[in-house]
Amino acid sequence: MKTEKIYETDGMCFSFRAHILSAEPSKNGYAVILDRTAFFPEGGGQTADKGTIANARVLDVQIVNDEILHFTDILPEADADGAVSCELDAKERFRKMQNHLGEHLLCGAIHRAKGYENVGFHLGADYMTFDVSGPMTSEEIYAAEVEANKAIAADAPVRCYVPTKDELSALSYRAKSEKLEATDAIRIVDVEGFDRCACCAPHLDSAGKVGLIKIVDAMHYKGGMRFSALCGFDALADYDTRLREIRALSSLFSAKPHDVVSAAEAKMEEISALKGTIGAMRREIVSLKLALLTPQKENILCFEPDMDAVSMREFATAGASKTDGIFAVFAGSDETGYRFTATAQNFPLKDLTSKIKSTLGGKCGGSNQMITGQISAKEIDIRSFFTDATNG
Ligand SMILES: [Zn+2]
Repeated sequence: MKTEKIYETDGMCFSFRAHILSAEPSKNGYAVILDRTAFFPEGGGQTADKGTIANARVLDVQIVNDEILHFTDILPEADADGAVSCELDAKERFRKMQNHLGEHLLCGAIHRAKGYENVGFHLGADYMTFDVSGPMTSEEIYAAEVEANKAIAADAPVRCYVPTKDELSALSYRAKSEKLEATDAIRIVDVEGFDRCACCAPHLDSAGKVGLIKIVDAMHYKGGMRFSALCGFDALADYDTRLREIRALSSLFSAKPHDVVSAAEAKMEEISALKGTIGAMRREIVSLKLALLTPQKENILCFEPDMDAVSMREFATAGASKTDGIFAVFAGSDETGYRFTATAQNFPLKDLTSKIKSTLGGKCGGSNQMITGQISAKEIDIRSFFTDATNG
């Protein structure tokens, strides 16, 4: 590799001058190799940096065949002195570094408390996830959060360096790999007094710059835990969103923000009591409707502008004994179509379902004693269909 990796020694470098070593046409523009770069290529669970090289936009950065390729939209034009000015999307890069160092501090705190290893990391556009190798209680998770945030409060300095083989062998650090130690130079990220870890990504130069670390979700995953966390400005934005939501709920429930849960519980109880009252009223309506019906040989078809599914079922179940034919209740109108429940004591209803579908349109299913469904036909056609069905 010909390129000097500025991101390895100075994570806080967001603009730099460089020389173009080569620029070849590629799929959507050019693949540019620089003599030095602060653009971090995609790797280790972190996406590539974006920004500009002179007048060209950097769309992606990848290591291909041991070369750092900057994929640009156009060919960057060098200045008169042959160099190009390069700018990273500093806001995005800073956001990534806040989340990335936050992850180091959380994993470090979990490692100290439980001895677990970090076994997965992904830094997406909206959130960061990481996995650890063992289970944790919610109390242990909160304790790790507090420990991680202590590094921010202490504004612990962050140092990235590549130790000699002898220095490395005397060093204790996380993410140790005997295999990598044998073949590669190991880069250490040291948060003074809090964590030491092998990592290749760019980092903030102090823990204070992380601002805030908050785990927002935790789940058991492959014998360990998967966490979603937000750091720095992402955590602030999330706090703002959640506060807006709590304020909206507080206004809906006419309760103080800290009382919304008990207000919601009280509302649920109220709804449950109302459901009980509605159920009793519904049963009363059904029994009144049934009392008005005289038993007969022919089908009884009742058309209601509106009736809930439970009442329809109760009505149809009790109504079956009122006729030797089919008892059916329909809710809806000719314009909107009808939901229906039909029962019969002496007529096999199941055979009727395919005919209902083909003649009246819609869908239905059930047993010989009861079928339910939806049809999109007019009342007059429904009545004649059922008369024909029981006569035929
Ligand atoms: Zn790192």
